[in-house]
Amino acid sequence: MNGVRICLGCQVELAVKKNGVLLVSMGVNGASEAAFCDVLECPGCGMQFVGGVADAIAFGAAAVSHVIETSGAPVVRYWLNNRERNEFAAKAGCDHHSLTNEVVT
Ligand SMILES: [Zn+2]
Repeated sequence: MNGVRICLGCQVELAVKKNGVLLVSMGVNGASEAAFCDVLECPGCGMQFVGGVADAIAFGAAAVSHVIETSGAPVVRYWLNNRERNEFAAKAGCDHHSLTNEVVT
């Protein structure tokens, strides 16, 4: 059972939905790191989660932008917490909803 990932609500194991998704770590001032990851999905309720995060391959906004442009991979962005996410949104002049990741299909 080591490494098993379960949806508590549905009581079933999560399935890998997509490999090779680019996970971008964001700060108040923009992107800081990027790494490939897997998107997992609950076959019961459809909630998606990030897992299988590899070592970072890009550091700093310019390098992260280059990887996003050249990899063609779907991108998932995340912030350390809601305060940083809200601060970034305020600086960027957008509301919270415009920062929401698309569901990976
Ligand atoms: Zn579920």
